[in-house]
Amino acid sequence: MNKEKYEVVIGLEVHAQLLTKTKLFSGDLTTFGSEPNTNVSPISLAHPGTLPVLNTAVVDLAIKLGLALNCKIAAQNYFARKNYFYPDLPKGFQTSQHSDPICIGGYLTIEHNNSTKDVLLNRIHMEEDAGKSIHDLLDNYSAIDLNRAGTPLLEIVTEPCLHSADEVYLYLTELRKILRWLNVCDGNMEEGSMRCDANISIRIKGEKELGTRVEVKNLNSIRNVKKAIEIEFERLIKIIETGEKITQETRSYNADNNTTFSLRSKEEADDYRYFPEPDLAPINITDEYLLKIKKSISTLPIELQKKYIKDYDLSNYDTSALCTEKEDANLFETIAKEINNYKSIANWITGPIKNYCNENKISVNEFPIAVKSIIDLINFTNTGKIHFNIASSKLMLAMIDEMNLTAEAQAIKLNLLQENNDDALIEWVNKVIENMPDKVKEYKNGKKNLLGLFAGQVKKMSAGKADMNKVNILLEQQLTK
Ligand code: ADP
Ligand code: MG
Repeated sequence: MNKEKYEVVIGLEVHAQLLTKTKLFSGDLTTFGSEPNTNVSPISLAHPGTLPVLNTAVVDLAIKLGLALNCKIAAQNYFARKNYFYPDLPKGFQTSQHSDPICIGGYLTIEHNNSTKDVLLNRIHMEEDAGKSIHDLLDNYSAIDLNRAGTPLLEIVTEPCLHSADEVYLYLTELRKILRWLNVCDGNMEEGSMRCDANISIRIKGEKELGTRVEVKNLNSIRNVKKAIEIEFERLIKIIETGEKITQETRSYNADNNTTFSLRSKEEADDYRYFPEPDLAPINITDEYLLKIKKSISTLPIELQKKYIKDYDLSNYDTSALCTEKEDANLFETIAKEINNYKSIANWITGPIKNYCNENKISVNEFPIAVKSIIDLINFTNTGKIHFNIASSKLMLAMIDEMNLTAEAQAIKLNLLQENNDDALIEWVNKVIENMPDKVKEYKNGKKNLLGLFAGQVKKMSAGKADMNKVNILLEQQLTK
């Protein structure tokens, strides 16, 4: 297969379920995991005669995201009916936006191979979700849960401008970061609150015209999107190379064996008989309204990162890790008011604190050590009286178990202080030298890089407490005697 000859072209449609308390057109709750069919008023059930009332919190979030993604916000926009029949769609149509979406164009910048790329957006529109069909619960029937029917979504559609699985991975990661940062969506792909359909085609490199696309659905993680693109690229090349034609279709990704299979041939817009929703007035967005939303947007990750690099002299790597979740950035700023070794704060937050939170599935806001004590812990570690490794593993956990002691008192109690007393260090150094006569001989014959091995042994013997700078000096002294 001559993969080099071809270019893959990808356009993504992402559905983000919004973090509003209630649905798009009713006061029904959007709570995840409720008993089936409990958040369903006559509006969600589409009883005849019910009318939708627009939840303006959805418009706020759409504008928020649109502004963050550099879109033009349409001063007037409309809902439309997308008609199709399916048992989990009680109205017989989905209320969506079609010809006049709320956000037009825009872009999201990603960093790839040390350069940046603006991923162009076509639109962002508001729409409602359908209910859920459950086919594996009952023997001879399908079950339907309408709790999700009417839940608000934003659909974020890119232009066909992505050209590798890696670019797609970066775009989705960055988009999810912003969705979470703005509190628009929790970005949880496993639970389906962020869903991605990938449209994929190929063409001979250099050609301008787009090839026939396939659309892949049921991608429940960013990694799976990446994998699906990789295998579809190869599958499409094979079809072309064997002289066959690609047919436009919708396919499903099967994560168990990393393959895709055909679901149906693709519907065209005509099939949906779109028309403007007669039960909802057009949405007018005034300049005042826009300004109000603009003011409510906190500094975006990309700008915050630039600020941190400038104000705190931190690396791109550190700032990128700190600015992925707002809670982390907030904690950093709080501590940076008290400690001016900024790098040490970044190390603590992006390292041990974040790891602890991830392992325990909590956010940094729920980290059990109070901010005051975190500051105490970082300050104490910065004095050099304890090794960072010991402080971040043993001492931090001890402080979580027993909140009332200071970092230093706890370290003394557990005998974790760094040993830099020469007599104690020499004792360990000599013991190691005594234990490894063969290696010592090799060292003396010129194998100087064995120093690291000896140092490692001293560290082990001291349970990590030895001051390693001093140990290295002492080792060299004792070994050249
Ligand atoms: P539909 O109405 O079927 O959803 P759209 O024209 O809105 O189709 O496009 C949906 C997505 O598919 C967009 O992200 C778009 O960029 C992408 N897309 C369209 N044509 C192609 C193509 N030939 N190759 C790859 N992606 C495409
Ligand atoms: Mg589509």
